[in-house]
Amino acid sequence: MPRIETGVRVEDKLFQNRYMVDTGRPHITVKPHDKPSPNLLALTRVCPAKCYEQNERGQVEITADGCMECGTCRVLCEPSGEIEWNYPRGGFGVLFKFG
Ligand code: SF4
Repeated sequence: MPRIETGVRVEDKLFQNRYMVDTGRPHITVKPHDKPSPNLLALTRVCPAKCYEQNERGQVEITADGCMECGTCRVLCEPSGEIEWNYPRGGFGVLFKFG
């Protein structure tokens, strides 16, 4: 079977997106915790924009800049109350161009 070559990598397509930062008003926050739950920890691996990281104390933190509003973290951790998730205010957040 012939291989279909698109010549465009996912990373290159995502690079086409732009993000308007709402300084000081992140639309997603992680609730304070001592030790992250398995679901919270999973966010460091499943977020396509790599917004979640563990700090030096092992707690999970988010930098919402670059969030693509895919909702993965919302499904995984909002029902348990581990994160608070809102859409960005109008005029802020991701601007999909060609991605
Ligand atoms: S909505 Fe998607 S892109 Fe945004 S922080 Fe959650 S998992 Fe990452």
